[in-house]
Amino acid sequence: MVPIQMVDLKRQYLKIKPQVDQAILEVLENTAFINGKPVQQFSAALQQYLDIKHVIPCANGTDALQIAMMALDLQPGDEVITPSFTFIATAEVIALLRLKPIFVDVDPKTFCLDPVAVEKAITPRTKAIVPVHLYGHSADMEPIMAIAAKHNITVIEDNAQAIGGTYTFKDGTKKKTGAIGHIGCTSFFPSKNLGGYGDGGALFTNDDALAAKIRMVANHGQSARYYHDVVGVNSRLDTLQAVILNIKLPLLDEYIHARRRVAAAYNEAFSVHPEFTVPYEAPYSYHVYHQYTLQLNGIDRDALIAHLQQQQVPAMIYYPVPAHRQKMFAAFGGASFDLPATDALTHQVVSLPIHTEMDKEQLAHIIKAVKSFLQ
Ligand SMILES: *Cc1c(COP(=O)(O)O)cnc(C)c1O
Repeated sequence: MVPIQMVDLKRQYLKIKPQVDQAILEVLENTAFINGKPVQQFSAALQQYLDIKHVIPCANGTDALQIAMMALDLQPGDEVITPSFTFIATAEVIALLRLKPIFVDVDPKTFCLDPVAVEKAITPRTKAIVPVHLYGHSADMEPIMAIAAKHNITVIEDNAQAIGGTYTFKDGTKKKTGAIGHIGCTSFFPSKNLGGYGDGGALFTNDDALAAKIRMVANHGQSARYYHDVVGVNSRLDTLQAVILNIKLPLLDEYIHARRRVAAAYNEAFSVHPEFTVPYEAPYSYHVYHQYTLQLNGIDRDALIAHLQQQQVPAMIYYPVPAHRQKMFAAFGGASFDLPATDALTHQVVSLPIHTEMDKEQLAHIIKAVKSFLQ
């Protein structure tokens, strides 16, 4: 059996190796390493895929979130609502910009921001809400957008884990995650559902003025060459990453189907056991399974992980400490937030390997290894 990894980037690469190798060689020949044509080609292709007006590429997903917040002209102390049950970057950039992170609890079924808790957390200083589509499941965007409209607040979607996901509105309208809020942010980190072979990221918006501001912030606050209007950053997508992403974007839906097949097999195997709660897929969300995450009910997580490890099955905890309990946020009163669902999930979740290259033998082995723990 091929060794099992959380993600198998090597086998995925081997399937597209001729195209990737040739595309990389072409970049080396052209030496247009920065802002080469493939960067614009990729932005245009992603624009079409997401059905959005503007895609602004940048250096990584964390930068995308930071640039989004910088583009909003917020004042120190302005409040930004974010889940604590997320990768640290979402909350980190809020603190980095001297804004105030307001941690809000998640819906324990979807792992995403609970709209009712969001509404309760709003104050006159709330300037932005950052829903995270965690593990590839969409946050409940329709009520979140309604709350934001009512209070005139900007919504920045953290779509780093859910590119290719879909949200269905009550009237049946479908939109891609990341294209629903005022700004969407994503990451092309290698292990993400659409990953390059290094760092990369992008911002999405339908708002022309915001797009212009985002482009300016991402490029040293420059309005015309060597004229700098605002304090910005230097954040670009390399041409080398763009050529890889140009090859992988047309395969994204296929990649998602492969992930969903793995998730369906896991669901079938584990949902019959009360010790496991399998991931929920809300009617409004088309889940892209960046992670396949079980909630454990009354069984010892460390023992399960050790048991799996003995059978060469890796498993991970995303994330062992929620943002509000990280030392980083002690000075922001992190631990004073009361987030029972987040705290409970932190102790209950475990993620199993899921990727585009999982074969039947590996899948059967993982399922057997997990089930054998219950005996
Ligand atoms: C990966 C990730 C990021 C950050 O992306 P980078 O490209 O690693 O900077 C932000 N938010 C979430 C939810 C992520 O999973």
